[in-house]
Amino acid sequence: MITDTIAQISSALGQGAISIVRMSGEDSIKIANKVFDGTNLETVPSHTVHYGHIVYKDNNIDEVLITVFKAPKTFTTEDIVEINCHGGVFVANKILEILLLEGARSANPGEFTERAFLNGRIDLTQAEAVMDIIEAKSDLSLSLANKGLDGEIYKLIVNLRTDLLNIIAHIEVNIDYPEYDDVVQLSNNVIKPKIVNLLSKIENLLEKASYGKVIKDGVKTAIIGKPNVGKSSLLNALLREDKAIVTEIQGTTRDIVEGNINIGGIILNLIDTAGIRESEDLIEKIGIDKAKTIINEAELILFVLDNNQILTEDDEKLLELTKYKKRIIIINKTDLNKELYHTFENSISVSALHKTGINELEGMIKKMFLSGEVNPTDQTYISNARHIAKLNEALKSLKDSVIAIKDALPIDMVEIDLKAAWSALGEIIGDTSTTNLLDELFSKFCLGK
Ligand code: GDP
Repeated sequence: MITDTIAQISSALGQGAISIVRMSGEDSIKIANKVFDGTNLETVPSHTVHYGHIVYKDNNIDEVLITVFKAPKTFTTEDIVEINCHGGVFVANKILEILLLEGARSANPGEFTERAFLNGRIDLTQAEAVMDIIEAKSDLSLSLANKGLDGEIYKLIVNLRTDLLNIIAHIEVNIDYPEYDDVVQLSNNVIKPKIVNLLSKIENLLEKASYGKVIKDGVKTAIIGKPNVGKSSLLNALLREDKAIVTEIQGTTRDIVEGNINIGGIILNLIDTAGIRESEDLIEKIGIDKAKTIINEAELILFVLDNNQILTEDDEKLLELTKYKKRIIIINKTDLNKELYHTFENSISVSALHKTGINELEGMIKKMFLSGEVNPTDQTYISNARHIAKLNEALKSLKDSVIAIKDALPIDMVEIDLKAAWSALGEIIGDTSTTNLLDELFSKFCLGK
């Protein structure tokens, strides 16, 4: 049972209109009351907001609004007090300092969410969803994260575990009270089909998980091609606003765009665009090794060619280097010459200048990464890398159990594999989680979350 009271600044550090200092624990209302000049917080109803001042040793520190949440219907299930103060770094820190002096302890990163988990308010997947919501970069990824917070992933895993538990229970019962004289027959006729069924459910989840990962993390994308072929113009067309500077003089493009483009829900994370879109020739300027590194790192290559220029040796080299990657060859400036100069597989003709072919290009990218329509209300897109790893572990153990059955190994050997799958699935929701796993997980949170 956790008893101490923790406090931390929950809003981002930096100047803003308002900062929030949060406390959780059994003394939080008492501590807040000691430094609050206003209503007696110890007698107010839960989920109410109170106006007043933080006063410490007769000094008025700030004018604040305090919200009181009483256990158990709170985020952590403990008493929670949130102080909305003015958004200066100094004043928020000052209030935190006062709370610490009055008996609260400084919360570790993620400790509020950790308490919510340890107190049984949320499972591990929901705790992680809090982080996913904070990090969401698109409507689709936010919607997935919200599914996680609603406990949809939890339900999914619990259902798989129930299936598995039924299989294990079957074995246990038959080891203790053999209905079948022949254990081999038992495993082949009864257990194996159940395992195979469960296996295919997990495989299906993993297949969709690649979509989930794309939705959540986006696609690392490199836009490459010779100077002046229209890379910046393409970027502008994709961004639908003029952020990159495009000039007529060869080699005067300057990269000022970094980061993400959202194309209808999928985030393209542009990698090292500065390096790639330098005014000099890619290979000449940054060297073949660097070019290779960028290409290796990219999950998608957008290779831009000018329809009106012949291929150079470097173009050929880059084509060769990228041939096994997910690649779209973009033949640009097709407005200038109606005759298509280049033909390639997986290519598209566009005019970045006139913004023609851009919707088709977006469609191609989407199809490449999310074959079929993604339905954001489907709760089965698992996107968290840790969950995917654990599902793979469970899958491997289940496959091992099928091999064990095929090799006619003793049924308790089969059971060992099934139990390994059980705990791998359990780790997803934090059921058999070790302290280490928890430490690692919650340390990823920011302070005050
Ligand atoms: P980058 O060096 O590859 O980034 O090329 P830019 O985007 O800076 O484009 C170089 C020049 O080509 C600029 O003058 C653009 O206006 C022009 N350009 C880019 N795309 C097109 C296109 O589709 N059609 C035509 N006619 N000109 C284009």
